[in-house]
Amino acid sequence: MSLKNKTALITGSTSGIGLGIAKALANQGANIILNGFGDVDAAIGEVSSAGSRVEYHPADLSKPLDIESLMGFAASKFDQVDILVNNAGIQHVASLEDFRVQHWDAILAVNLSAAFHTTRLALPAMRASNWGRIINMGSVHALVASVNKAAYVAAKHGIVGLTKVTALETATTGITCNAICPGWVRTPLALKQVEDKAKTLNISLEEATKLSLGEKEPSMQFTTTDDIGQLVLFFCSPAGHNVRGVAWSMDGGWTAQ
Ligand code: NAD
Repeated sequence: MSLKNKTALITGSTSGIGLGIAKALANQGANIILNGFGDVDAAIGEVSSAGSRVEYHPADLSKPLDIESLMGFAASKFDQVDILVNNAGIQHVASLEDFRVQHWDAILAVNLSAAFHTTRLALPAMRASNWGRIINMGSVHALVASVNKAAYVAAKHGIVGLTKVTALETATTGITCNAICPGWVRTPLALKQVEDKAKTLNISLEEATKLSLGEKEPSMQFTTTDDIGQLVLFFCSPAGHNVRGVAWSMDGGWTAQ
């Protein structure tokens, strides 16, 4: 499959899953727009090595005006976004009574509202060309809950709702919208939770990893960022044209229980 002449914007792509998706799309020849914080130069270097054109925009996705600037930047560099991957996400763990309002607001803004803003701004050009792929990063927590993750679970359930509405409103066009729902993926976001568990329970990282996976993921294996990149490529392939509005689990059996 070649994605030459297609442009992919992947939010939160300086690290973890987003970076893996950007590399998978770049390897198929797509132009890439990276976004996110941290070691930007390293991310640009990794994705550029595939030979595609790579641009970066520093939008803070909790800010709608930054998102407008990001979408304007994409249009000025490449005319339009053909593949939109709403991936950026943050996590905070606390019981409902202890959940700080600013953490709730930030998680809803980055994990849910940002996808609404990028989607509404990307759709007109996708409609004009009658082709587009919108891929929203869900989670097992888009389908089932865990304690102490009120904002994350609410935002991720919301992203599945947004995915379904987007898929229905574009159902007769060449634009599809789907969500990916991973269990544990080995990334900084997941490893921080394992490290916190190790600290709290005063156990080794290895023990905390086994405990974390053993709680809910029957395969006892992390999904890799490459696995997720390959699923994104399937959604972008011709065979994915009629896959619309699904929440595709990649969770080692977590939600089969
Ligand atoms: P990560 O922490 O490695 O990467 C998150 C990315 O989002 C980074 O590039 C970061 O800079 C960016 N980001 C954070 N806040 C931002 C903001 N305000 N504006 C712009 N960019 C911002 O995390 P990850 O594990 O790769 O997670 C990526 C997505 O996958 C998230 O939506 C997460 O909820 C989801 N997910 C992760 C797992 C897992 O186990 N790692 C499981 C299920 C779902």
